Amino acid sequence: MREFIPYGRQSIDQSDIEAVIETLKSDWLTTGPKVSEFEQVMAQYTGAKYAIAVSNATAALHIAGLALGLKEGKELWTSPNTFVASANCGLYCGAKVDFVDIDPDSYNLSVESLKEKLKIKTPDVLVPVHFAGNSCDMKEIYQLAQQYGFSIIEDASHAVGGEYEGLKVGNCQYSDITVMSFHPVKIMTSGEGGICLTNNPELAEILLALRSHGIVRDERLLEDKNQGSWYYEQKWLGYNYRITDIQCALGISQLKRVEEFVTVRRELVEQYNELLEGLELKLPQESSQSKSSWHLYPIQLLKNENGYRKKVYDSLREAQIGVNVHYIPVHMQPYYRKLGFKVGDFPVAEKYYNSAISLPMYYGLSNEDVNYVTKTLKNIL
Ligand SMILES: *Cc1c(COP(=O)(O)O)cnc(C)c1O
Repeated sequence: MREFIPYGRQSIDQSDIEAVIETLKSDWLTTGPKVSEFEQVMAQYTGAKYAIAVSNATAALHIAGLALGLKEGKELWTSPNTFVASANCGLYCGAKVDFVDIDPDSYNLSVESLKEKLKIKTPDVLVPVHFAGNSCDMKEIYQLAQQYGFSIIEDASHAVGGEYEGLKVGNCQYSDITVMSFHPVKIMTSGEGGICLTNNPELAEILLALRSHGIVRDERLLEDKNQGSWYYEQKWLGYNYRITDIQCALGISQLKRVEEFVTVRRELVEQYNELLEGLELKLPQESSQSKSSWHLYPIQLLKNENGYRKKVYDSLREAQIGVNVHYIPVHMQPYYRKLGFKVGDFPVAEKYYNSAISLPMYYGLSNEDVNYVTKTLKNIL
């Protein structure tokens, strides 16, 4: 029997293992030098001024929302074609959540739909998600943010190593904060982990405090400066969203490999594109200003008989191919339907979802695996 091919997985080599072991033997397991080193190299790599590493990207989205003032009476908008965390963070803050339908070609939040919605109302925070690693049109979104006065959190959980206008995603040129995930299925991993990137020193200060209980120790930030060196103040209601030195050691080591990760993913995409050409499929596209990191390789089935996607999906699974579906539109989740959303609210995302299948895509996927996946898919179609 063939070995199962998952839809995504990490790559851990000897240098990653040694980096973690070295940290385990050191004096610091958490809140030590590896955390600040990871933040430094991530800031350097992306071009952002400040980086605050946290326990996961969901935590990063939560404190990013809080830092930008989300609370009761405020509103967050995001794409329905995302993981639930991009929307949930708004609810964590007590804000309202709404969605902007997607573009039928990029599967990212549609700038045209956003413009239409802005004629009616304005969000406080917009969370564009760089779906599959392909950057949203940030320049246009940023211009609208200037015009209408809302903040931007880029959810770049898929886009570590991707580029927009020739610069690395995460530089925050067109956003207030960018968030990334280091979960094992993403581009690079720290086991669990996430990061907030920003160019704004005040936001960086708040994010840093919110990561650890809302506590500050820096004398500059204290209200009472006449206490001893034991003294700290809690200025906000923060959380324990800290990341360990063990995780950051792995993150630092993985970042050294990230360019190679993305290069291999891009080669696999070329191979998929070539082998799948001419079939009754819509293949994923890169937007004009974007260089995708290709976290996912989502195809759309063009035949739309009832139950066809399920048939194809199940047949691929039977052939030991770990396909997946990204994403069930968030507004269609039972929790969001209870909040008042219904099927039909965001038809482009729903239509895409009904015909989507993500094929396996990860650094360790071999050319032979891609041949097998495409040959099997061809036979099924
Ligand atoms: C994975 C993911 C998240 C959450 O990341 P965690 O690190 O698992 O919390 C958020 N948004 C998107 C788009 C994701 O894919």
